[in-house]
Amino acid sequence: MKISFEGKRVLVTGAGQGIGRGIAIELWKAGAKVVAVSRTKSHLDSLHAQYPSIDVVALDVGDWDKTRQVIDGLGHFDALVNNAAIANCQPFLECTPDVFDRMVGINLKSVINISQVVAKKMIEKKIAGAIVNVSSQASKKALPNHTIYSATKAALDSVTRTMALELGPYGIRVNAVNPTVIMTEMGRTEWSDPAKANAMLSRIPLKRFGEVSEVSDAVLYLLSDKASMINGVELPIDGGFLAA
Ligand code: NDP
Repeated sequence: MKISFEGKRVLVTGAGQGIGRGIAIELWKAGAKVVAVSRTKSHLDSLHAQYPSIDVVALDVGDWDKTRQVIDGLGHFDALVNNAAIANCQPFLECTPDVFDRMVGINLKSVINISQVVAKKMIEKKIAGAIVNVSSQASKKALPNHTIYSATKAALDSVTRTMALELGPYGIRVNAVNPTVIMTEMGRTEWSDPAKANAMLSRIPLKRFGEVSEVSDAVLYLLSDKASMINGVELPIDGGFLAA
């Protein structure tokens, strides 16, 4: 199955490192004109040095007004990947309001903010666009110390369904992917302890964590015309964790 994004402009958030960087590179390889938005400039600089035709924009997507202004200035897009997120894990009894607000701001509010700006332009230009929200297996199952992170991802699944419902009539498809552990910076921070990792691995039928490429493959498929009737799904990329 050949997937091409030739002639398409695609915005990827959180593309400085990890899964978002992988998605941006695979989209570029498939012919897309990629705009990579992320927080740390040095990560974006290294992406741009490796792939000079990927445009990079340093931005904290947790800042609602600034994000709206910057994204609005980037023009129209054919597709959007809402990938930027943080995972600041706290035991339930120690969850704090500042961490709650920051995680909701980045993991959830920014998706609504950026998607509004991008989708309005798709509608204006009659673009039958596609949006993928990067959620998590943690949206659907309880994991220790994941109270706030899981809540943001469960809410993201819900936002995905409502976006699919309301944007579908304009020909815009909205889907989510729900990966298991991927050993990025975020994955290493949370899952490097062998005791924790082995406890998680024992619950994954395929008995391994995922790879960045396994997430980017699914995202590119969902963004592509090959998924033209797929709208409003939450696709686990979890080796069977959620089915078990
Ligand atoms: P990383 O922490 O490795 O990368 C996250 C990227 O998002 C970084 O480039 C980071 O910027 C950027 N980012 C974070 N906060 C902001 C912000 N406020 N503004 C702009 N950019 C920001 O995480 P992953 O690649 O692992 O995660 C990507 C997505 O996948 C997330 O949505 C995550 O929740 C999800 N996910 C990850 C799993 C895992 O095990 N890794 C499992 C399931 C889902 P900077 O370069 O500054 O770090």
